Amino acid sequence: MGDKVPRYIVVLGSLMSGLGKGIVTASVGRILQSKGYSASPIKFDGYLNVDCGTMNPLRHGEVFVLDDGTECDMDFGTYERFLGNSLTRINSITGGKLFQRIIQKERAGGYLGRDVQIVPHLTDEIKAWIRNVGAEKKSDFVLIEVGGTVGDLENAYFIEAMRQMAREEGERMLFIQLTYITALSPGELKTKPTQHANRLITSMGIQPKLILCRGDEPLDKDAREKISLFCNVSPEDVFDDPSLETIYELPIALEKQKFSERLLSHFGLKPAPEDLKGWSALVSKIKDPKNEIKVAISGKYTAVKDAYVSVKEALVHAAAANNTRVHIDWVDTEKLEKDDVKPSELLGEYDGIIVPGGFGNRGIEGKIKAIKYCREKGVPYLGLCLGMQLMTVEYARNVAKMEGANSTEMDEKSPYPVIHIMPEQLKVKEKGATMRLGAWECHLKKGTKAFEAYGTEKIFERHRHRFEVNNELVPKLEEAGLIFSGRSPDGVIVEMAEWKEGWGVGTQAHPELKSRLEVPAPLFVGFVKAALKRQKEKEKKD
Ligand code: GLN
Repeated sequence: MGDKVPRYIVVLGSLMSGLGKGIVTASVGRILQSKGYSASPIKFDGYLNVDCGTMNPLRHGEVFVLDDGTECDMDFGTYERFLGNSLTRINSITGGKLFQRIIQKERAGGYLGRDVQIVPHLTDEIKAWIRNVGAEKKSDFVLIEVGGTVGDLENAYFIEAMRQMAREEGERMLFIQLTYITALSPGELKTKPTQHANRLITSMGIQPKLILCRGDEPLDKDAREKISLFCNVSPEDVFDDPSLETIYELPIALEKQKFSERLLSHFGLKPAPEDLKGWSALVSKIKDPKNEIKVAISGKYTAVKDAYVSVKEALVHAAAANNTRVHIDWVDTEKLEKDDVKPSELLGEYDGIIVPGGFGNRGIEGKIKAIKYCREKGVPYLGLCLGMQLMTVEYARNVAKMEGANSTEMDEKSPYPVIHIMPEQLKVKEKGATMRLGAWECHLKKGTKAFEAYGTEKIFERHRHRFEVNNELVPKLEEAGLIFSGRSPDGVIVEMAEWKEGWGVGTQAHPELKSRLEVPAPLFVGFVKAALKRQKEKEKKD
C-alpha cells in the first residue's frame, strides 16, 4: 500500500528512561502493518561505541545479533519479534557509527576546504541515513526510536537533525512523546512533569502530535485535559500506555483507544480495516492457556533478566504455539558446585532446563552437573551456543570417559579439548565485531530430533561465538553415542548435537534471536513439546 514515498514517525522519551520506548515503537509498527502499511524501524543510540558487541550484558542487557552479523541493542529483538521482518545494519545508528563515518570522510578529503561541524555535516549525514533506510527498505513508514530521553547531551544533535527533517518533510513526519504520569496517592495524577518535559521538547523546535502516558493508574478526564491544554495536543491524542500482562498486548490496548485512526489522520490517511485477529489469538494463548510448564534457565547473569530477553521471549512464543504458559526460573547452578546441593534439590521441579549462551569460566562446572542431571533423568534439555558446547563436554567426561575433557576457553591444558577455538579466530586481535557472527547455513541429518523440530534439511540461524566442537575428537564422541545432527554445508563446523535418549538438543547457534510471536523458533517449540510430554508422563507415574 502507499505511494512508497516514506512517512516518518519519531518516538521520543521524556522524563525518564526505561518506560518501554522500544515496545511502543514496535507496537506502532505492528499496528501500521495491521492496516496494510509496511514499517521499518531505526534505533538511534547516543553512545560512542560503534555497536554494543563489546558491552557487558549486566550493564546494557542482551547483545542482539542480526542476520548480517550486526551486534546491536536488545530493542532490535523487540522490533523483529513484533514486526516479523529481518533487520539489517542500516537499521541501527549509533553515535560511534556517525562520528566514525564523518571522521573517515574528513580524512579522505570529503570536506576539503571546510571546517566540519555538527550542523550541517553531522545532521545532514543523519537525515541522509534515515531517508536511505526508507528508500532501501521500500517502507511506507520509517519508525525512529531515539534512545535515552530528550535533554540527554548525547542525543541533542540527533534531535536537531529530526527537527530539520520535520521542517523539510512537513506533514510526512510526526513525533510521539512517551511520558510517565505519577499518582501521588490513588486518584491523584500528576501531569506537571509531563508538561515540563513537553516544554523541553518544544524548546527544541519540535511539537509532538501524540502523547503516550505510562503510569501508575489510567488517565482520568482531568489529567487528559491538562495534558491536552498544556502540551498543545487534542485530548484524543493523549493515550494510556498501561502496564499489561504481556508486552504483545500493547498494539491491542492502543487500538482500543483508536490509536491508528488518530495517527493516520495526522498523515492525512484514511482509517483502514484492521487485522490484528491472528495476533490477538496468540495474545489470548499467552494470557489464558490450557497448560503450564516450569523451565529453569541456568545463566551467568541471573540477576539481570534483560541479559537473556530473547531466550525468555522465544519460550513465550513457543509456549503460545503449544497453548501453554511457561513459568521461568533463573536458577543459579553455581550452587551445584558445592557438594551439599544435589541437582534434584535444585532442579527437581522443572519440566525442562536451558543453558543459554555465555562466556568465561564462572559457574561452568555447575552447568555441566545440571546437564548431566537432565541426561540421566530424561529431563528435556536445550543448549544454546555455550549450552551446546558444555553438553559436549559433559558427554565427553561422563559417557565417553575422556577424563578432564573441557573447552579450551575454560582450560587451555585440557587433555581432551572437545571444544576449541575456531582456527580463523586465532589471528583475531580486535574485540569489536570479530566473532563468527550472523546467520549461517546448517544442514540437518534426517531422522534426528533437530530435523524433526525444523521439518527441513537446510536452516539458517544466527551465531555469536569464537569456539567450536573439535573435529578430531568427534569420532570418539560419536562412538560413545553423541549424535551430531547438524553441520555447516561444507561439513566443517558442528552446528547441532543431541542425545539418543530423551529430548536433549544443543545448537551452536542462537535460535532465540529469530523467534517471533507469529513464527516461533522450531527448537524452542520442540523443547516445549518435550517438556509437556515429560510432565504428562511424570503425572501418570505419580
Ligand atoms: N564462549 C563461547 C564461544 O565463544 C560461547 C559463546 C556463546 O554462547 N555465545 O564460542
